[in-house]
Amino acid sequence: MTELLQIGGITDRMKDRLSTAFDIRQLDDFDAARITHVVTNGHDGVPPDLMAQLTNLKMISVYGVGYDAVDATAAAARGVVVTHTPNVLNNEVATTAVLLMLACYRELVRDDEYVRSGRWETEGNAPLTRSADNQKVGILGLGRIGQAIADKLGPWSPEISYHTRSPKDVPYRYFDNLVDMAKHVDVLICITPGGPSTNKLVNAEVMRALGAGGTLINVSRGSVVDEAALIEALQSGALGWAGLDVFEDEPRVPQALRELPNVVLLPHAGSATVETRAAMGDLTVDNLLQHLNDGSVLTAVPECKDL
Ligand code: NDP
Repeated sequence: MTELLQIGGITDRMKDRLSTAFDIRQLDDFDAARITHVVTNGHDGVPPDLMAQLTNLKMISVYGVGYDAVDATAAAARGVVVTHTPNVLNNEVATTAVLLMLACYRELVRDDEYVRSGRWETEGNAPLTRSADNQKVGILGLGRIGQAIADKLGPWSPEISYHTRSPKDVPYRYFDNLVDMAKHVDVLICITPGGPSTNKLVNAEVMRALGAGGTLINVSRGSVVDEAALIEALQSGALGWAGLDVFEDEPRVPQALRELPNVVLLPHAGSATVETRAAMGDLTVDNLLQHLNDGSVLTAVPECKDL
């Protein structure tokens, strides 16, 4: 039976389907030369030294759309095809971004605590919050998910701008400079891929430009935001609020960030619903089974499209 190396967790449904076609090996029990297929996720990826050991590797299926933890260029150069799960999670991640934005604007976490702690009874009404309607929203990375965020924000009547490396055919204002966009908007939503080209793209200057009345939402990768600068900006008041689903060193989240009252924190749960994880799992497995069957795949990453 063809041997598949499993890196990270998979669902029971994925395991059941994969077991029909593959001998699933675990990291503590595999023979590198026998592994032809790998299933992994966007967080664990495939470490370069492990990839080098897998001399007969043909395919890597990533359970997620972000694949910055896999060196897809190196894989393509070896003829190894990498697949991921685009589109099936767009709506869920967009919901998460909107959820974080609304939670920041309407102080959901603070007010929940206000009721639970009994302060409503002893101190009276909670302080007012901010309306999320009619805001200037800047989207950093207007791809599949960025567009879904723009669509989902519709009922809040936003004025949408975006920053990407190249302008898109969309009815929103394009900024070729991120600091300029940050100066213009009330809320900046990050949804680019991770990796070297976006590393610490959101730096202290961007946060200062966003300002004391500004809100930063990050549902992309922790690496996209300079976390130390973020903590400083939130502590000093240079930046108003942050809603974060992703962090630099997950699952470790700096204590300073955890103690701030003006942040809403999620445990990288952007796509983490039963329904969306089922769709992602199905696509992850479909790619593997099809590759085993006829050598083709459904959703190769751009670097591997021509293999
Ligand atoms: P897409 O490839 O469809 O879109 C990426 C967008 O980012 C494009 O508009 C691209 O435009 C832009 N971009 C890429 N590099 C840069 C750069 N250096 N500077 C500015 N803009 C850039 O990806 P998806 O929308 O499908 O996914 C985006 C990312 O979201 C994933 O890679 C993943 O990291 C993250 N994600 C997070 C999840 C979570 O749980 N929080 C779940 C799913 C995804 P251009 O090329 O013109 O620059």
